[in-house]
Amino acid sequence: MSLRRETDGTVWMHESLHTGFSTTYRLEETLFDSNTPHQRLVVGRTEAFGNVVWLDGVTQVTERDEFCYHEMLAHVPIIAHGNVKNVLVIGGGDGGMAEEVLKHKAVERLVMVEIDAGVIDFARQHLASINKACFDDRRFELVIADGKDFAATSKDRFDVIIVDSTDPVGPGEVLFTRSFYTDCKRLLNEGGVLVTQNGVPWFQRDELYNTMFNFARLFSDAGCYLTVVPTYAGGFMALGWGTDDSSFRKLNHAELQARFDAADLNCRYYNPAVHTAAFALPGFIGDIVREAAAQAEQPE
Ligand code: SAM
Repeated sequence: MSLRRETDGTVWMHESLHTGFSTTYRLEETLFDSNTPHQRLVVGRTEAFGNVVWLDGVTQVTERDEFCYHEMLAHVPIIAHGNVKNVLVIGGGDGGMAEEVLKHKAVERLVMVEIDAGVIDFARQHLASINKACFDDRRFELVIADGKDFAATSKDRFDVIIVDSTDPVGPGEVLFTRSFYTDCKRLLNEGGVLVTQNGVPWFQRDELYNTMFNFARLFSDAGCYLTVVPTYAGGFMALGWGTDDSSFRKLNHAELQARFDAADLNCRYYNPAVHTAAFALPGFIGDIVREAAAQAEQPE
């Protein structure tokens, strides 16, 4: 991440998550720049996307396009499952995921396990437009801990687990391991669903491949679905999907529409047609999932 100031005073913020490619934001003001015990947290007001949060130089969330990510990672598993009462979010410090989950009135308990209290403190104060004070919802429980340790030791059980993590570098790396996924599966009630942020396959093929390999070994219905988040460069973003109940993916449009109407979610990206279409994979992404699944069938 680097800043460039032009002679007319314009400031450009360059982000280089992917080798040989950079995303650039026109920065109106830096609102916050500090090192938490876990990572560097920078927040800036940008012309194109409103307030943007960067952790270790990588975009985490922006005010204008967060719904493309949060709605799809929250509502697809919850609507597909149809009877979700307990949800676990790993990561998700900005609160945007918790806000979407808590739109579901049938959800009785949401546990969010975030490693970095600094992100929560900042989000409470400055990202209310994203999290809409979900932190004060009586169903919300916050645990400040490494998600890997929580998954390894918790005795709780959940209907849906959402891994809303950073990329697999720094503190987020452990959230892409086989042992973590195995622990998540243990925490799922029968017929529960695990969903994960799995990066942009155009740039992060291995991230998706590794998760799909591990999911294929763990779940009878393993795969991914897609969203598009404008600030995550490279086109489609993959969201991992793992469950032992294959009926969830076979729901017809009328059933999805009935559940969506009953939930009264007020969405800007998610709807039943998008839900179904999100599981259709372009060839180059389907190949990654198929190759990983085929490899998973080989003896270790
Ligand atoms: N939408 C984002 C993306 O895909 O880039 C993810 C955003 S969310 C803010 C990611 C959160 O995961 C951060 O707040 C970070 O502190 C948290 N995190 C990273 N590693 C973690 C771990 N091992 N346990 C729990 N939380 C973790």
